[in-house]
Amino acid sequence: MLVFILNAGSSSLKYQLMNPISKEVLATGLCERIGIDGILKHEFGDNKLTLEVSMPTHKEAIELVLKTLIESEGKVINSIDDIDAIGHRAVHGGEEFASSVMVTPKVIETMKKLIPLAPLHNPANIMGMEICQELMPGKPNVAVFDTAFHQTMPDYAYMYALPYEQYTKHGIRKYGFHGTSHYFVSNEARGMLDKKHNTRIIVCHLGNGSSVSAVLNGKCIDTSMGLTPVQGLMMGTRAGDVGAGAISYMMSQEKLTIDQALDIMNKKSGILGISGKSSDLREVLQGMQDGDDRCRLAVEMVAYNIKKYVGAYVAALDGVDALCFTGGIGENSSLIREIVCAGLDGMGLIIDPTKNNKRSGKARDIATNSSAARIFVIPTNEEYVIANDTYKIVSGLEK
Ligand code: ADP
Repeated sequence: MLVFILNAGSSSLKYQLMNPISKEVLATGLCERIGIDGILKHEFGDNKLTLEVSMPTHKEAIELVLKTLIESEGKVINSIDDIDAIGHRAVHGGEEFASSVMVTPKVIETMKKLIPLAPLHNPANIMGMEICQELMPGKPNVAVFDTAFHQTMPDYAYMYALPYEQYTKHGIRKYGFHGTSHYFVSNEARGMLDKKHNTRIIVCHLGNGSSVSAVLNGKCIDTSMGLTPVQGLMMGTRAGDVGAGAISYMMSQEKLTIDQALDIMNKKSGILGISGKSSDLREVLQGMQDGDDRCRLAVEMVAYNIKKYVGAYVAALDGVDALCFTGGIGENSSLIREIVCAGLDGMGLIIDPTKNNKRSGKARDIATNSSAARIFVIPTNEEYVIANDTYKIVSGLEK
């Protein structure tokens, strides 16, 4: 069984070819600058291949990826027939999709209706599905939604305290994102806990985009992102939680349109906006070490924001059994983990400095032996969730 996993963005697309049963990854890669010029970065085994080829649209990009998988020096399969199914990362499933689904004309139609909720992402996702149907006719396509895992949130957690009609008329509520990662990591954490019932797990997915979720008995009960990904934690370039009053005041002072204000909040804020240096935490940590005070501020704000959500979710879960760190920052930055966990002994979370500083690409426990709750570092694997959901749906194991 081989699943072609596709994550189509507005000017880029990521792909992987994976066997969901053995978890073997045959190839992985990225097409960038689609519509501009075009670069393909393809990895297979320990080898890498970079091609600069014109990609006017996503169609040429996907054609090139398939050709690379089949015919190039980076070839890993003999023909398209070796691909059994395609699993698509889809961003916004609204309230319509609480789990992964086989892509049908009706599913695409529903996703089109959801475009206003994700104007940048859903069109690219739909395009990826339609191109795969055209280039690989007859092969099953499955959509795996970023929002689906969060659909179990209770109404009092997902509602905004706006007039109720804003919800009924426009679907304005919290949806949450990074669901495949929150699902994967919380599920791994459940397996790592001795306790099997009433499991209370907090997942901090910390990458360029970041979010926290509270997971009770395997079901999400709250998450930090909202109607769109701009809410919640301070991120690489996103502002996270900022009062509406501050935004409207900034707009009036700077004479900004809604689109300009959103552009600032999504692309020029967060770690980049505070440090003035970079959206990449590594560079900002380096800046802090070199004595740059705005870099110090950005790092302290990142950690403080995460810590506040951890405290809130311990309350939401009536306690905690495991706090999990994942994503580029969560998996690699021992300093952020240390600051987040400092002083949480009263919540049963005691980090072991030696375990925290040890580097490893594997899931591990970094809490002291005496810590009442566990602190896990768990590498996320969203591609595996997409491949496995695709496998289960295509083979009829799950409807
Ligand atoms: P994406 O959300 O794009 O998938 P990643 O999960 O790869 O992003 O996370 C990228 C972030 O992880 C960047 O801010 C980067 O600086 C940070 N990061 C990666 N390695 C380290 C490290 N060793 N120490 C601190 N931060 C790191």
